[in-house]
Amino acid sequence: MQLALQLDGRQARFAEVDRRLRRHYSPQGPWLRLDPVSQLVLGMVGGRTYEADSRRAFLALCDRYRGWERLRDASLADIRDAIQAVTYAEVKARRLKAALSMITQRRGSLTLDFLAGWRVPAALAWLESLPGVGRKTAAATLNFSTLKMSALVIDTHHLRVLRRLGLVGPRTMLPDAYDRVVPYLPMQWRAEDLDAHHQRMKTLGQDVCSHAEPACGFCVLRDLCPSAALIGKTD
Ligand code: SF4
Repeated sequence: MQLALQLDGRQARFAEVDRRLRRHYSPQGPWLRLDPVSQLVLGMVGGRTYEADSRRAFLALCDRYRGWERLRDASLADIRDAIQAVTYAEVKARRLKAALSMITQRRGSLTLDFLAGWRVPAALAWLESLPGVGRKTAAATLNFSTLKMSALVIDTHHLRVLRRLGLVGPRTMLPDAYDRVVPYLPMQWRAEDLDAHHQRMKTLGQDVCSHAEPACGFCVLRDLCPSAALIGKTD
């Protein structure tokens, strides 16, 4: 009985957070949906890098190789050269090549379309078994791409807001945060609702609940947030 009440309480908090954000942040998109391998490549290039730089590097890869099989078969030096603008270019080049090779080995061709019929937890686990693929990239591959599956993307901005709201612990990292949040999201949310929720949480984290200087006085979640009183002194 007590567990049921806790579950309902947490679900109600997530629903209220999203309701408030929806009122204040206009819908974004619709985005251009990439095929799942392209989305995987974009995610792998983008780790710990400014979005503009990762998009530029992704476009450089598209332009140079014109087909992910060519990227898979290219030399490490050539791949590193193509993505030199992003952080950890050497490591990312190695992981990209290894991940694309592993997909080909396991499936016989370089495609992730087969994941369309899978349950989300199994699809996440399969993607995360590839070199350099963590929960954020795996969830983005499933949710943002043409697969349009019900996985929730949580980036650093989104995670910071979850922590400050007390919806996950103050030191909870991915993928634990994902496992703690997803069971409490409204059951009726579809893939596009999860995408929109992530975009709103991310925007709040970037514009209001920033790492260095959260502007709690301007935050629409202030009365729901246990951190507001502590951080509010800096307003
Ligand atoms: S009230 Fe402050 S700490 Fe809480 S979510 Fe809003 S900006 Fe972040």
